[in-house]
Amino acid sequence: MLLLHYYLPQKLIKDNQKMCGIVGYLGKQNAAGILLEGLKRLEYRGYDSSGLAVFEDGNLIVTRRVGRVKELVAAVKKAPSQSSLGICHTRWATHGVVTEQNAHPQLSSDGKITLVHNGVIENYNTIQKFLISKGYTFSSETDTEVLCNLIAYHYAKEKEPKEGSRFAQSVRKAILHVEGTYGLAVLCADCPNEMVGARHGSPLILGVGREEILLASDVAALVSRTPEVVYLNDGEVVQIVGTDFTISTLDSEDIKPIINTVDWDISEGELGDFDHFMLKEIFEQPEALENAMRGRFSLDQSTAKFGGLNLTPQDLRQVDRILLCACGTAWHACLTIEFLIEKYARIPVEVEYASEFRYRNAPLDKNTLVMVVSQSGETIDTLAALQESKRKGYTTLAITNTVGSTIARESDGGIYQHAGPEIGVASTKAFTSQLMIGAMLALFLGRLRDMSFNDGSELVTGLKKIPDLVREITQHCAQIKSIAKKYTKKQDFLFLGRLSMFPIALEGALKLKEISYIHAEGYPAAEMKHGPIALVSEECPSVFFATEPDTLAKVVSNMQEVKARKGQIIVVRSANCPLPEGLADDEVIIPECHQAATPILASIPVQLLSYYIAVERGCDVDKPRNLAKSVTVE
Ligand code: GLU
Repeated sequence: MLLLHYYLPQKLIKDNQKMCGIVGYLGKQNAAGILLEGLKRLEYRGYDSSGLAVFEDGNLIVTRRVGRVKELVAAVKKAPSQSSLGICHTRWATHGVVTEQNAHPQLSSDGKITLVHNGVIENYNTIQKFLISKGYTFSSETDTEVLCNLIAYHYAKEKEPKEGSRFAQSVRKAILHVEGTYGLAVLCADCPNEMVGARHGSPLILGVGREEILLASDVAALVSRTPEVVYLNDGEVVQIVGTDFTISTLDSEDIKPIINTVDWDISEGELGDFDHFMLKEIFEQPEALENAMRGRFSLDQSTAKFGGLNLTPQDLRQVDRILLCACGTAWHACLTIEFLIEKYARIPVEVEYASEFRYRNAPLDKNTLVMVVSQSGETIDTLAALQESKRKGYTTLAITNTVGSTIARESDGGIYQHAGPEIGVASTKAFTSQLMIGAMLALFLGRLRDMSFNDGSELVTGLKKIPDLVREITQHCAQIKSIAKKYTKKQDFLFLGRLSMFPIALEGALKLKEISYIHAEGYPAAEMKHGPIALVSEECPSVFFATEPDTLAKVVSNMQEVKARKGQIIVVRSANCPLPEGLADDEVIIPECHQAATPILASIPVQLLSYYIAVERGCDVDKPRNLAKSVTVE
């Protein structure tokens, strides 16, 4: 906990990110409008269905709809409420298909308790059997309804306590029996002026406004009402009565809240002139990269500097292995960072899927430094990997875009990306900003070891040029759009690259499948011969990366192999990597740059290619099916 203070400035927090959808309100204004406004800002975290409950004339009124938040807004408009107490939710289903019945808020069968929940109740089956034996009934397939009825069961049993509230006490009692993860906001039909929240594994933040208190899974939902927030920790319960709140442990021990001030520009979370957040964020990359570098170079010493690592140069010299852990796109960033650290700092690096690492019980060397990477700072598997490493006594660092996130708070130190809010579900600017931080880290670690002053300054100069070069590439978006149009009907794609381009091939394939539902595979270009080449035909184009003169001849041979099998070729190549005439069907040329930054530049054309293909196919780019921005369930 102490170390957190170096990493997380307590007074002024620039918070950038969000979390899967809960909002609660208790104040003097009309709750429904404020709740729905907040919910819209969270919609990208999960968007299969949504719902709202308000306390109206002594009754809990629940409205739920399948589909986007706009469906819920329309339903609520038809039956306006005057209530100043309510909760709402946007769901990313884990248990039970997407139906109105399974949407949240769930209501207990005795009508006493309603709640919204993010996470998973793992022992729902056992609890459900018990509750059925006690006469409770179930109308949904969700794990959430089980918790709702369990609170109602404890509420019915609980006597009015001498101190505190029976309602809050019943929430505490119920969650003591729960295994799994939850962020909760709960209302009780007997308590017109009270809301209870609790968290374990899923984020929950309290917004302390003027004559109003809000609860949300993400600051994005709060900032239009108040900049003052309290980040709840696992195992904490908040009881809000009127405009007062108290935070306590499950054993009812009071906790002194730390109020943070969030510095958030609300316009950052808006679309402006762009058609989609993804496109906006692709174009925001030059600024995101500048922000990743700002104030982090020491020209005198030809190195990078990071304020929040909480490790001395002596500590870092002891490190003889680095373990990088992440999921999804961040895992691809880790593969690139592995390449950079091994090349420039000569420290052996391993990359693990966080979801595997946690259960694998991997043997780690004594002097291993564990680094986790997560844009949201809330990815549950990454958090679990971090906690497992800490439990074993390893020093942990985090790269995250989200100030105040659970991963930021729980790691021993780390590096904030400062990329600004990323709303599009398919990550773009957060990914390239992770690559930039990886290159800076490789420089920093390299300069602590054998990298020369001159090599260091060459790298600093090279990295500083990158934002402008990215800007230059985005100016060619019309050309990439016209290439995209030629390939929209294809159902399979290969992405092929060598060395540092292999992770970019993986990321390119992931981007395309995420948003356009085209099957795509990323492979090391030469490995393609050992399997994926079987897919090559007129119907399966290949995207090649040709960015290094050293391996160009080999990549050209791989392209010839594809061409010989009638596969179409799109190539992303550096200006200094000329190709034989007519080999590629289409090409995007990226400027020459320092080798450490080629992965950043090569990412931009494939982001744009995927984006334009998805738009041509009529896909919902910012909210692709089945996905959610931050995966806070295992
Ligand atoms: N497990 C719950 C459900 O499937 C909550 C999902 C969520 O976090 O949105 O309804």
